[in-house]
Amino acid sequence: MSAALSAVPSGYLAGSWREPASGRTFTVTDPATGAALAQVADCGIDDGLAALDAAVAAGPSWARSAPRRRADVLRRAFELMRERREVLATLITLEVGKTLTEARGEVDYAADFVRWFAEEAVRPGGRSTPAPDGQSHFITVTEPVGPCLLITPWNVPLAMVARKVSPAIAAGCTVVVKPADLTPLVTLAFAAIVREAGAPAGVVNVFTTTDAAGVCSRLIEDPRLRKLSFTGSTPVGRLLLEQAGRRVLRTSMELGGNAPFLVFDDADLDVTIDQAMIAKMRLGGQSCVAANRFLVQDGIADDFARRIGERMAAVRVGPGLDDGVDLGPLIDDRAVAKATRLVDDAVARGAVVIDQAPMPDDPQGTYFAPIVLDHVPLDAAIMSEEVFGPVVSIHRFTDEDAAVRIANDTEHGLAAYVMTQDVDRARRVAGSLESGMVGINRGLISNVAAPFGGIKQSGLGREGGPEGLLEYQELKYLSVPGL
Ligand code: NAD
Repeated sequence: MSAALSAVPSGYLAGSWREPASGRTFTVTDPATGAALAQVADCGIDDGLAALDAAVAAGPSWARSAPRRRADVLRRAFELMRERREVLATLITLEVGKTLTEARGEVDYAADFVRWFAEEAVRPGGRSTPAPDGQSHFITVTEPVGPCLLITPWNVPLAMVARKVSPAIAAGCTVVVKPADLTPLVTLAFAAIVREAGAPAGVVNVFTTTDAAGVCSRLIEDPRLRKLSFTGSTPVGRLLLEQAGRRVLRTSMELGGNAPFLVFDDADLDVTIDQAMIAKMRLGGQSCVAANRFLVQDGIADDFARRIGERMAAVRVGPGLDDGVDLGPLIDDRAVAKATRLVDDAVARGAVVIDQAPMPDDPQGTYFAPIVLDHVPLDAAIMSEEVFGPVVSIHRFTDEDAAVRIANDTEHGLAAYVMTQDVDRARRVAGSLESGMVGINRGLISNVAAPFGGIKQSGLGREGGPEGLLEYQELKYLSVPGL
């Protein structure tokens, strides 16, 4: 597989495939083995500007194109993604490390965004209404915001690029994509698919780089750029907001999380354990909506800790391409070091290890064995930092008010989960939780038709659903004489 991948061109897409002006490349590696997968263009500022030039040149005619034409391009891209599911999934497994089963799920999820926005493209919104005094009439219209810079993370590389590019294209925008340098390959493959599906040259441009800060800050300064959409960590999001603020550039920010998973005494334990495993272990915990803090009521805590310990200890860890593997490696050494530091800190502060899965025999990659910690004190670093790994950390609570207070004691507000059979409690607690999304007796909340996003320092704006299109549209109203 590595040999086949080494044939991937080291070019980037700026209207057409090009070699980087810098002449440099960087290596993409497989976290399961440490082996080199491909050489990719290491673009500099000139290359980033070439990508923006292409997006700007293609902008006016794409903005004027019929919504049905944009929908047809996206629909065809969806079909191509379905046809190439195995190739795309294999690329994801190779560069991210997740299992093939999870990677196939990501391809399906990503393709679903492309299909959803193919359907939304022909519903651009707008309304017509008389002014209250009857003297005039307003017609609201939507227009594409213009050329966009889209910056994506490594953990769900195909789904995140699809979740941004599809609504942008549907709205009539052209884009420049900057994928994470750890995982650029599936993004390049996606851009090629959209082009093959009929998007004119310059509608989707991708540049890969190890100098994200240098190239992106230059693009953000450029007055031709009209929108920045970023998914990644909160510290980088803050930095980008500062840069964007200088130009009053429109932004969407999908940032980090610290999701609480609340389990009340009256929860159905079978359902709770299944949903807890989903909320924790999708992407091996390397997800922004991964449950990070398990807040469990005293009466059910012993049973919860024992049962989730058994499930986590049974997780089979190994290379994502191997049969029978449930969990691949973490993305890199830094991810392993961070999870290790947070677990060690919690244990040093009095947390108790309930159970841990075995490591693979003779591990070559960046693996981390799933672990369950109970009695984690509130001052442990894991209660305030995203662990981004397969660690269940349990903190026990006595009453509902305390649970909500602890759950909200974070700068983040992306996802939260509530497990209870009491409908009133579920509604009450969900209403009190400071987060953009709440799963009630469900650990899987992502859906293409729902508005995904956070509050507080988890971000600005929403992706997916009809709301996802609004992020790429300007609203204008026309004032005409009253009838
Ligand atoms: P990151 O912030 O390190 O990097 C994200 C992207 O930003 C990458 O493409 C990176 O190259 C780029 N980048 C880094 N510094 C930059 C700079 N100074 N200027 C411009 N671009 C820069 O995040 P990551 O480690 O790739 O991803 C993990 C983080 O993303 C976690 O915090 C996770 O919660 C978050 N995330 C959020 C969502 C969401 O929808 N809210 C989804 C997935 C991941």
